Amino acid sequence: MQSPLDHNRRRFLTRAAVAASVVPLSTLALQLPSRRATAADRPEAEDGHAHDYVRNAADSDHALFEAGSNCGNCAFWSGSVTDDHGGCFHPDFMTVLVAEEGWCSVYARGG
Ligand code: SF4
Repeated sequence: MQSPLDHNRRRFLTRAAVAASVVPLSTLALQLPSRRATAADRPEAEDGHAHDYVRNAADSDHALFEAGSNCGNCAFWSGSVTDDHGGCFHPDFMTVLVAEEGWCSVYARGG
């Protein structure tokens, strides 16, 4: 025959095991929305974000700017995410979207 102490211990251990299995599942469920975050969720870079970035290359008066150069034909361009914005592989633009018609002073002509 079981003592009341054994019964309480068994019940405690069962509940602890259930709780231990539920906590990781709830943690995973809370993380799912952030895992679904896409590149389109990044904010659009504002003029002056870094390296004299401008959303419209035609607005640049930078000494390095050459007509016809823009993010869309830059080696750092990672492709369109929205109709007119996309990603940039340069470390200073990894958390934002840049305008396809934008430009910054680290522009490198794409191949
Ligand atoms: S590195 Fe290229 S793609 Fe990135 S912001 Fe500058 S010009 Fe645009």
